[in-house]
Amino acid sequence: MPSQHNFRIPLFERLEIETQSNCNRTCWFCPRTYDRSGAYITKTGAPTLRQMPTHKVIDLLDQASQLKFCGFVAFHFYSEPLLDERNILFAKAARTRGMKPLLHTNGDVLNKNDTLCEQIRQVYDCVVVGLYDYTNVEELTAAKEFWKNRLDGVDLKFSYIRPVDDRRLPSMGIPRALVPTDRRAAIPDLIFKNGPCSRPLLRMLVRYDGAFCLCCEDLHAQFGLGNVYESSLDDLWYSDRHVRVIGDLLAGHRSSYRLCEQCPQSPTGPARGLEKIEISRREYLAAVGSSH
Ligand code: SF4
Ligand code: SF4
Repeated sequence: MPSQHNFRIPLFERLEIETQSNCNRTCWFCPRTYDRSGAYITKTGAPTLRQMPTHKVIDLLDQASQLKFCGFVAFHFYSEPLLDERNILFAKAARTRGMKPLLHTNGDVLNKNDTLCEQIRQVYDCVVVGLYDYTNVEELTAAKEFWKNRLDGVDLKFSYIRPVDDRRLPSMGIPRALVPTDRRAAIPDLIFKNGPCSRPLLRMLVRYDGAFCLCCEDLHAQFGLGNVYESSLDDLWYSDRHVRVIGDLLAGHRSSYRLCEQCPQSPTGPARGLEKIEISRREYLAAVGSSH
């Protein structure tokens, strides 16, 4: 149901439609690595293997087009998009509808696949390659050069996260709500009780099973925002529930939501009024990931 609030939110800036659930890696900084709910990894440690049907992905792109969305579209959430052989087809479908395909990949599928590299050069506006294996600066530099040559001509960016606890090594790895505290993170593991968070305004995140997730921390879709199999993108984005959660978080009410209460993502603005933002050390609670 569309929102009854007088506060009107803008349309999302980025659309992420996860087309399948698998990944070939188990990165230390990734929430999927610690999942045992079955969303991505089962209790016994096996990967969940599911795909969103092709017609549903295309339907979501059509719905976004009807909303006049023309921003970046990616086909992952907590999975590796190039494990889906339909990836190029979806990127082309997004481009045909006036959107900008964005690929965020760990690069493993591309390492030896020249044909796929060429297809990516043709269809993707922007590619982000994750570099997660370097153990010194020279290796990081060499990895960047490798990808610049391999994806020549593409708007190429890197997400580099060190795999070792060595503060001399550059890293973009930050603490995450569903990841245990880890010395390899580049910044201290803190929580911000009344810190505003505007992240949910930026992206519409649809998990492979159709669940609408609030933000990049919401692996379990635990905010009760609905599902694309039951509602349209339009109704989900502007729903009363979604607008209310966004309003709460812009006002710094992280303590209203269990995941936000334990979230180490930094405030996106100053606290309301004359308040100071309350900062404290995070104590990782595995239970936060599985409760609503
Ligand atoms: S490659 Fe990406 S999706 Fe896969 S485990 Fe690493 S961070 Fe997560
Ligand atoms: S504070 Fe809440 S909305 Fe913001 S990133 Fe963390 S979990 Fe997501």
